[in-house]
This record gives sequence, structure tokens and C-alpha cells, in this order.
Amino acid sequence: MKEMTLAPLPYADDALAPVISAKTISFHYGKHHAGYVKTLNGLVVGKEIYEGRSLESITCSSYDLNDTAIFNNAAQIWNHDFYWRSLAPAGKGGEPSAELLSAINASFGSLDACKAALADAAVKRFGSGWAWLLKKDGKLVVESTSNADTPCGKPFVTPLLVIDVWEHAYYLDWQNQRAAYVKAVVDGHLDWLSATRRFGG
Ligand code: MN
Repeated sequence: MKEMTLAPLPYADDALAPVISAKTISFHYGKHHAGYVKTLNGLVVGKEIYEGRSLESITCSSYDLNDTAIFNNAAQIWNHDFYWRSLAPAGKGGEPSAELLSAINASFGSLDACKAALADAAVKRFGSGWAWLLKKDGKLVVESTSNADTPCGKPFVTPLLVIDVWEHAYYLDWQNQRAAYVKAVVDGHLDWLSATRRFGG
């Protein structure tokens, strides 16, 4: 049986400090994200439509079949893989390509306005969830999702970046200051090089 594995972090566990500390990574990646992987592997045992399938396939099928526990864990694995790959160490995230910047300007007016829209969605998401920059039907949009909800597998949607606003993402470093965590991530740790690659693909 092919089990889900925890994808490696794309940087050292202290690479995002002090905005996201090694201690936060140790719990967020090492306990929460790893926990979703372990739980999902347990939930799919003996279930032919899920066992051995890709993460995307499990996420989509469990959503369609309303298998809530499987969906929540599968989607959270996908969302966290995407989150770690939406972030970069300070100074390493680069800038949007000319093509991506042109789409950003068309949708938001400027890169600063795009960042402000993403931050606003992240701050205003009530409770746990995610704030996304998406390419949707060819246009860029900002949306937020609740709990484990995900754009993974949605037709005509390409996620470009995400920010995790579950409290486990920021509470050790920022306590109740979600807006400060979000601002620090948006200003210094978004991986525009990866966003550019996804946009072009
Ligand atoms: Mn999380």
C-alpha cells in the first residue's frame, strides 16, 4: 500500500524566523501537518476509492462524496504543502514576472494593492482558514476559505499563493496579533518566484 508521506520543507526550519520561528515550524509542520498525514493514512485503509490514490484525487473524491474526515485531512495536507511553498526566506522570494505583474495590475491596480487585498482577506477570515491569490478563469482574484476548504481540484482555478491563518500558524510568535503576522508574511516572505511559475503553467 502506498502511504502518504510528509513532503520535506523547502528550507531550513529557522529560515523564516523571526516572522515564523523554528519553534512554530516544529509544531506547525512537525505536529499539525504531520498529524494530518498520519490521520489520513489511517482513515483510507481498506477504502478502495482512496487507498493508494494521489492526494489531489483523494481530496476531490472525498469532497464529492461528503467524506468529511477524509476531506479535512487530505485538504489540510494539500493546503499545508502549498503554504510552505508559498513562503520564502527573507530576500529570496523575488518579484513577480512581467507577465504576472501585468495580470496583477489588471486585477488590482498595483502589486501593493494586490498585497493589501490578500492581507485584508487573511485578517478578515473569521476563525480558522486560508487566504489565497488565485488565477480563476484567467483573472487574478483574492479569496479566503474556511477551515480545510481548498481550491485544490476546482476547475479553472490555479492557486498562486496562500497564507495560513489558523491560530497554530502564528500564535507562538504573534499571539493574538494576526494582522501583524499577515503583514510580516506579505511584506517579506511571499514566494513570488513560485507564484510566477504557477501563473505561467
Ligand atoms: Mn496550518
